[in-house]
Amino acid sequence: MNSKNKQTQCVHTGGIIDEKTRGAVTPIYPSTAYDYVDVDIHAYPRYFNTPNQRVVAEKLAALENGEAATVFSSGMAAISTVLFSFLKTGDHAIFQNDLYGGTHHAITKEMEKFGIDYTLVDGMDIAGYKKALKPNTRLIYIETPSNPLLKLIDIRAIAQLARANNLVSVIDNTFASPINQNPIDLGIDVVVHSGTKYLGGHSDICCGVAVTSKELNEKIWGSAIHFGGSLNAQMCYLLERSLKTLALRVNQQNNNAQRISEFLKGHPKVNNVYYPGLTSHEGHELAKSQMKGFGGMLSFEVRTDPDMFVKALQLIKPAMSLGGIESTITSPAQTSHSKISKQERAKVGISDQLLRLSVGIEYADDLMADLDQALNL
Ligand SMILES: *Cc1c(COP(=O)(O)O)cnc(C)c1O
Repeated sequence: MNSKNKQTQCVHTGGIIDEKTRGAVTPIYPSTAYDYVDVDIHAYPRYFNTPNQRVVAEKLAALENGEAATVFSSGMAAISTVLFSFLKTGDHAIFQNDLYGGTHHAITKEMEKFGIDYTLVDGMDIAGYKKALKPNTRLIYIETPSNPLLKLIDIRAIAQLARANNLVSVIDNTFASPINQNPIDLGIDVVVHSGTKYLGGHSDICCGVAVTSKELNEKIWGSAIHFGGSLNAQMCYLLERSLKTLALRVNQQNNNAQRISEFLKGHPKVNNVYYPGLTSHEGHELAKSQMKGFGGMLSFEVRTDPDMFVKALQLIKPAMSLGGIESTITSPAQTSHSKISKQERAKVGISDQLLRLSVGIEYADDLMADLDQALNL
């Protein structure tokens, strides 16, 4: 039975039943050497076709409403492989400017070496993307909600622009997770994730995935076997196990983040709160039209000393990553955006007072009490 429901897909899609033992879960197949005589596929981990790789890819393809997926050893392995599988010397690509730092660096440090031209578009205005089009443009790449201000870009409009101009459209869906946003349904060609965040969800797996059509997946896979960013069987199993609770985790994170954002919005020691689920958020209406949940990420500005505030938190841990079951907090000015000048940061709205919170699955009242005591010190 092929359920379209995310909760059921999380638990059931893609598992393997071991006929010898009839155990409830997929066995781990660690072999790197497989028989080649009279078999349909020549299995090898770097061919992305061993049993554990295939079952987790099948689950992720279903969760993103795509036809096929390739699972990678990191989010950046997925992103770089996707980019270099579609782009070649002489091509041009359009990127949203406020992408995840690692992606931004990969573009600005690698593309030119291979003779690939690109334009970084500031802001969420679709007109800017249209203006950036050139005769040799092949690909358009976005990320929504964005880091760290949770800005929204119109996914349908980008997909339409791509279709009308024969571009491959790619979206980084890490912040939303497949539970809150399915861009393929809105016309996007390729969805990438850093699986290190919500998909893994327990701050203990580094992985990535690209989900797309069968046809485009063949292209991505063709480059992936050359670049070699495959994930081993043990980690694939751990990812499969994590995905079984993805819907549960994300729904709890959505609920917690909504309550916490409303609490922070009314707090006298807090200035701005950025969360797509707040009616005051500039992208709230757009979020309602393209997201099924508003996510577990939010950011806010404290009116107190941000370093002292972070140190005073007892449950919420300072950490650079996100998407785990435990709530974590980070200062964008000191981490992801530390390489750009204070003036430039100010221009894009990232002050030293800004903190980004990745809301976990704890009891929301405990998290609010922790924030409150640290704000009132
Ligand atoms: C973490 C992250 C990445 C990179 O993923 P890795 O697993 O660290 O390689 C890409 N995009 C977003 C939005 C991320 O948060």
